[in-house]
Amino acid sequence: MNVRTRIAPSPTGFLHLGTARTALYSWAYARHHGGQFVLRIEDTDVARSSEESVQQILDSMAWLGLDYDEGPHYQMQRLERYHAVVEQMVAAGTAYRCYCTPDELDAMREAQRARGEKTRYDGRWRPAPGKVLPPVPEGVKPVVRFANPTHGNVTWDDLVKGPISISNEEIDDLIILRPDGVPTYNFAVVVDDWDMRITHVFRGDEHINNTPWQINIFRAIAGPEAVLPQYGHCPIILGDDGLKLSKRRGAVSVTAYQELGYLPEAMLNYLARLGWNHGDEELFTLQQMVQWFDGSHLAKSPAQWDPAKLAWVNAHHMKQADD
Ligand code: GLU
Repeated sequence: MNVRTRIAPSPTGFLHLGTARTALYSWAYARHHGGQFVLRIEDTDVARSSEESVQQILDSMAWLGLDYDEGPHYQMQRLERYHAVVEQMVAAGTAYRCYCTPDELDAMREAQRARGEKTRYDGRWRPAPGKVLPPVPEGVKPVVRFANPTHGNVTWDDLVKGPISISNEEIDDLIILRPDGVPTYNFAVVVDDWDMRITHVFRGDEHINNTPWQINIFRAIAGPEAVLPQYGHCPIILGDDGLKLSKRRGAVSVTAYQELGYLPEAMLNYLARLGWNHGDEELFTLQQMVQWFDGSHLAKSPAQWDPAKLAWVNAHHMKQADD
């Protein structure tokens, strides 16, 4: 198999340390296997994405030395492709237009809450044999929803967490295309991972709940026999206070550490160890990591950011560095 990995940041701020770590894992995995590493900018959140953020991400990747073989690909430059896939799915019956207004959806949820049910889309626009759909209202721009399978389980063997299984009954029909023609994350990510022939996805475990949708959409697009990427979900990084590493409690961007004078090789060494180990090795070069990083020994539980250890790792790399 030709290994192909990617990192797919959303340009809504600096390159976060957590994203830098999954970029490093994806990069090292591709390099270990002589494969390719792809950079994709997921800029479909038009209101929050900015050119400045794209530039900061590119600069941080360059500073860290995580070179990519393809990209940056920009999702907003691929709209035609997403629209074509949506049309194929609608024709195949794996997606459908839904004309519910926001008020109608609110009322639907309100009624479900009142009945003590879990709130979810009730499938009123989902075609079914013999079902009469509501009349198409005038002046409402539809969304497109994915017709999620109603039975069975979605299962995958996570590269980090091990086997995971989620019942399709827990999952409702996700919006894949907004009324303005911009795709949602879970759809665009699948079209891209498919088109870019991605074989391994390392990302943060906040995406575990998205993965069942992605696997189902993948099968709908690529067919039941398609070989899907393997997913590995890395736990979040905790701050030194044991809470999620966040801006409010210190620097969380690669840029901030660059400005503070840390060496990129120290950042990579330190980030690598936050969620992966090679025995007792604490201090290593990027070349060593590439040699060792075969996707095993990834930690299932969150690591804690430790500024003192980072300083120690940095001191080591400074001593090794050319004067
Ligand atoms: N744009 C997503 C993020 O930044 C990418 C997640 C993924 O790797 O699929 O979280």
